[in-house]
Amino acid sequence: MATDGSDAAARDLEGPKEACGVVGVYAPGQPVSHLTYLAMYALQHRGQEAAGMAVSDGVQLTVVKAEGLVSNAFDDRTLLTLQGHLAIGHTRYSTTGGSTWRNAQPVWREVAGRQFALGHNGNLTNTAALASSAGMLPGIVSSDSDLIAEMIGVELDACGEERHPDDVEQALLAVLPRLQGAFSLVLADESQVIAVRDPHGFRPLCLGKLDGGWCVASETPALDIVGAHFVRELDPGEVLVIDHDGLRSLHPWPESEIDPHLCVFEFFYFARPDSRLYGRSVHAARVRMGELLAEQAPAEADMVMGVPESGIPAAEGFAKASGIPYGQGLVKNRYIGRSFIAPTPELRTKAVQLKLNPLRENVAGKRLVVVEDSIVRGTTQKQVTRMLREAGAAEIHLRITSPPVRWPCFYGIDIPERAELLAADFTVEEIREFIGVDSLAYLTLDRLVASTNAPGAGFCHACFTGDYPVEVPVGFTKRVLEEPSRAPAGQLEQLAHLPSI
Ligand code: SF4
Repeated sequence: MATDGSDAAARDLEGPKEACGVVGVYAPGQPVSHLTYLAMYALQHRGQEAAGMAVSDGVQLTVVKAEGLVSNAFDDRTLLTLQGHLAIGHTRYSTTGGSTWRNAQPVWREVAGRQFALGHNGNLTNTAALASSAGMLPGIVSSDSDLIAEMIGVELDACGEERHPDDVEQALLAVLPRLQGAFSLVLADESQVIAVRDPHGFRPLCLGKLDGGWCVASETPALDIVGAHFVRELDPGEVLVIDHDGLRSLHPWPESEIDPHLCVFEFFYFARPDSRLYGRSVHAARVRMGELLAEQAPAEADMVMGVPESGIPAAEGFAKASGIPYGQGLVKNRYIGRSFIAPTPELRTKAVQLKLNPLRENVAGKRLVVVEDSIVRGTTQKQVTRMLREAGAAEIHLRITSPPVRWPCFYGIDIPERAELLAADFTVEEIREFIGVDSLAYLTLDRLVASTNAPGAGFCHACFTGDYPVEVPVGFTKRVLEEPSRAPAGQLEQLAHLPSI
């Protein structure tokens, strides 16, 4: 069984990580860099490792990016220098390619006099094969997003000297069918913004109408903040071109390859509660998850509480359905940066307490239902349980709004390898014992999907079932392009021997 190691606890503290937020703004006459900045701010939860923006004034495409938060990367003075009529923005968490400035996005290229910039949310599953076939050995490109840009550059190079306004668009369309895995992309050249959603639609991407322009973004709150009126979500397999002629929707993949599989983690954990996915409220879905949990796994208790943040609406739903009063049992310190790395094991065990502290007067002597979104390594839940018991909780009944996470994600969520997943090898009863709660129940997959109120829409749930909608290579590692010596043999073999495409 997994240990209660302090390193694991520190890694577990933040839960699984997203793989980026993307924004595109086309709005002549509007302050596009400020609008993009605001939208990126609204998508900060999707990536805190780096932030960047590319802005075009019709002649020059300028990129500014930095490691850290959006507020670290941009200030008023920087934004004022970024004048133009279109922009794309990116907030990054790394799933292929390490957390370095080089891998911050947008990725920029100038090829044969043509400039473009690209932002990517998701994770390619055929990175090694693509790099091998294109002769791009590790070191030439450092992330799957960098690889996409390099491939577009190769296509542009082949266009020759005579320039056409749609060169970048055509180069992109030539590259897209070769990509496999998860990719919601925004791409800009001097005169247009292009948004792409992969044929499975793993990651969200939506379109909004601005006064005199358009905005695309990973989640609807980014549209809200810039005053864009929500129009629709991009379809899986859709390419949306935005330029001075308006919108053009292209569908480069054959119908037979369109197979919607929105990541169900977006609904119960990643997306903001004020987001809408598949046209449904994420907050309402989380409340419903709690209601269904109360029906599926009732408990005799005095108070229902949620683990902040995403456990809170589900706890409200559990309380409503069960009739057990809702109360706050944990206070979250909102000012813990992701960079918190304590120097000693003793201090690392304090990491959970630094972020979450029990409200003694609310939990002492009570039988508690504690609602949480997921269990990955289990170390956070174990420490939260210990803190609640030390605060006087009489009983703890843990209820999880998702099934046991048994498989890693290869589509843009940084779920650890199988060996680190508590549920990969242990039963629910063994997990209950490890965490130290009085009872434990996970929401079933069919109830989780039902709670979205979009049951027929198509979801990926591979991290629960191992049923991967897109094949993944053996030994996949996110650093294959940077540190080939750390890649498992299977993946290196692909780099060396996979046939050209
Ligand atoms: S494997 Fe899990 S986390 Fe990854 S895309 Fe599918 S549902 Fe989401």
